[in-house]
Amino acid sequence: MAKVPYRCVECSSNAHELHRDYSNGILKITICDSCQKPVDKYIEYDPAIILIDAILCKTQAFRHIIFNTKINIHWKLCVFCLLCEAYLRWSQLQGSEHSSDPADIIRYTKEWDFYCMFGFAALELAVFLGGVVAFVWMVQSFLQSSVDLPMLVKALLLSSYGKLLLIPAVIWEHDYSPLCFSLIKLFVLTSNSQAVRVILNCRRRLSILAVCVGLLMETCAAVASQRLQWSVLDFLLSQ
Ligand SMILES: [Zn+2]
Repeated sequence: MAKVPYRCVECSSNAHELHRDYSNGILKITICDSCQKPVDKYIEYDPAIILIDAILCKTQAFRHIIFNTKINIHWKLCVFCLLCEAYLRWSQLQGSEHSSDPADIIRYTKEWDFYCMFGFAALELAVFLGGVVAFVWMVQSFLQSSVDLPMLVKALLLSSYGKLLLIPAVIWEHDYSPLCFSLIKLFVLTSNSQAVRVILNCRRRLSILAVCVGLLMETCAAVASQRLQWSVLDFLLSQ
């Protein structure tokens, strides 16, 4: 069966088109058959408005971005966020040895322990994604429904854009309180939960549960990797 290309941002029903282009140059937004509202009102909106609605975690904005756009930057975004996270972890390790010279960022990338931090951050992200996907897979098996798992991973990566808030910490060093990092984490998890909710088209509680399962597994992986991390760093420092 051919895949329906679009979704209604209001009710998540399938749609074959977002607008109709009449021969005299007039465009008309398609009305959803199910809810009788425009299939995707955001095609007329400025990207800044869409971004604000996404920051406010509106499901309509999430549906527009995930289902009705060809946005394909999730892996680049993921690598960029991991680099920021790795740098923060690495700089926390360096402590008082850290220099304020921005040129040092280039030098830091030659450090093996920086790559180790990148590896551990990537591992924890993979465990988080694996936890959420496994939970969703079990739920869909139980409910005899079908979920596009690659689309779920893409939605989770895109909804982690809040990690870009780490960039100020990279640029202006890491003079941030743990509370600030906790708020960034909470925002990212809220967005992740909303992305799961949009993909599954389910109730809020189920999506929060899915993210909590992923977070629990990520925390376990972080604790386990913490010991490995110190062992690896001790080995590298002894070389
Ligand atoms: Zn609709």
